[in-house]
Amino acid sequence: MEIKFLGTGASEGVPVIGCDCAHCATAITDERSRRLRSAILLTENGRSILLDAGIDIRQQLLTYQVRNIDAVLVTHEHYDHAYGLREFKYWPESGGQDGVTQLCAPRSLLNRISFLYDEAVKFSKLKPRPLPPHQFTQIGQFSVKPVRIIHTAVSFGYLIQTSTTKIVYLSDISATTPSIMDKYKRRLSGSDCLIINAPFFENQPGRHIGVREAIRLGEDLDCKKLVLSHINHHNLAHRELHDEINGAAIVAFDGMVIEL
Ligand SMILES: [Zn+2]
Ligand SMILES: [Zn+2]
Ligand SMILES: [Zn+2]
Repeated sequence: MEIKFLGTGASEGVPVIGCDCAHCATAITDERSRRLRSAILLTENGRSILLDAGIDIRQQLLTYQVRNIDAVLVTHEHYDHAYGLREFKYWPESGGQDGVTQLCAPRSLLNRISFLYDEAVKFSKLKPRPLPPHQFTQIGQFSVKPVRIIHTAVSFGYLIQTSTTKIVYLSDISATTPSIMDKYKRRLSGSDCLIINAPFFENQPGRHIGVREAIRLGEDLDCKKLVLSHINHHNLAHRELHDEINGAAIVAFDGMVIEL
């Protein structure tokens, strides 16, 4: 499986409009600290699924010449994850398997965000497909399980498997109680790659997990690779974060590719 990071920023992107902080100043000259909103493309044997479609998705699909997506999986309703679904009104009709791209999430989330995709559905560019939470659904060659995670909005992580590879995507998630962490361990352990949000270095209870807590969760979930993504200017710039965590995780950057 190829994992391509089309964007690795959080809600504001980096640099932030009008911000004079040191991180945003670094981002002007350091390409790896410049971040569009989070979106990830998974490809296996020429078939692809997209994880999240934030407000930068048009630019991302053009930059990486993405013309074929079998399914878009959405984690939650926030601006930086779902508001680019409106762009799919202009998606090519042949953009997915059998001519249509599926839009997948648990039904409760699809209902909440229908105002973002109803035009694309009307023009037959997206086809909503509710996924039962905590069960696997086959989408082409990907087997996908949504898992409810704790954040400020109703949010789902995704466990995605192919015949050879298993990845877990957790964005956005907060650190939480030991009993909920135990549920995560039962449901999300043993992946080849865990991708997790890190907009802040310090833990933000109920909102976003901190970097140290994310590294501990990666250890608890026994993942082979841990990737920090969804980073904003409240965290360290790319090189500083890389040095600070001393190899405990990969710090994502826009355009990064991981082959598993
Ligand atoms: Zn976010
Ligand atoms: Zn800033
Ligand atoms: Zn969010």
